[in-house]
Amino acid sequence: MCERFAPSPTGLLHLGHAFSALTAWDAARQSGAGFRLRIEDIDISRARPEFEAAIYRDLAWLGLQWPRPVMRQSERMPAYKDALNILIKKDLCYPCSCTRRDIATALAAPQEGSDGTGVDGQVYPGTCRNRPISSRTDKDAIRLNMAKAIRHLGGDAAIKALQFVEIGGTAAITHRLDAGDLMTSCGDIVLARRDIGTSYHLAVVVDDAAESVSTVTRGRDMFEATRIHRLLQALLGLPTPGYRHHRLIRDVNGKRLAKRDDARSIDAYRAAGKSVADIRHLLGL
Ligand code: GLU
Repeated sequence: MCERFAPSPTGLLHLGHAFSALTAWDAARQSGAGFRLRIEDIDISRARPEFEAAIYRDLAWLGLQWPRPVMRQSERMPAYKDALNILIKKDLCYPCSCTRRDIATALAAPQEGSDGTGVDGQVYPGTCRNRPISSRTDKDAIRLNMAKAIRHLGGDAAIKALQFVEIGGTAAITHRLDAGDLMTSCGDIVLARRDIGTSYHLAVVVDDAAESVSTVTRGRDMFEATRIHRLLQALLGLPTPGYRHHRLIRDVNGKRLAKRDDARSIDAYRAAGKSVADIRHLLGL
């Protein structure tokens, strides 16, 4: 049993991160579960050592403790490659050379029903879908063929049997996957970016399983992505944790806090003389 907090070192932690971290930490203390910190630094163009150092400093200041060494995603590429190879061997993947612009152009043609926006930005129009995996080059991303993945798992009825439990509110709620919804709002998601060799979705699923995470705590903005994670767990034969998608912490104007909003960083509150009790009070904890 283990709770986790999995920040990306791409900016200073703000109140929203403190809320995630403290919620997971408090739940771990209450249930006697372990608490783990994972550094999600696969995006090497944005991750910075100084932000990783700030994560350790801020969390220690908030009173959290975690086992060391921490898992760092940048050191886990072989595990992500193995997971990708499982999906490639099942014939569920294809290489894709489309740029964002190619996708926008393909989607500019009128679509029936939807405007093409999905969980991961634009739902991929399928331009490269018929390319064999053997045609993969260094310039390609790898995508999941969603229709094939659904068939592989047994079709509509089997997909409906895939569930995850949301444990955030007063009562646990079971959410079921839906094949039609996966097709229209997720589509052929990227499993491995050309520059990184994996994607957030693949890495987070592999790592939550590797760390035996029993509850994933993160913001409500990640809720829609969870069905992708549940699907990948089914395809890879990995266990499904419980999910606690918490309310988003907003500024006085109701805007979601962003990493560039340094004024609301934990660091700035500490520098202004606030205590951990003040932070907890601000967050309603
Ligand atoms: N690394 C993500 C972030 O910092 C969190 C993802 C997750 O908790 O699953 O936004």
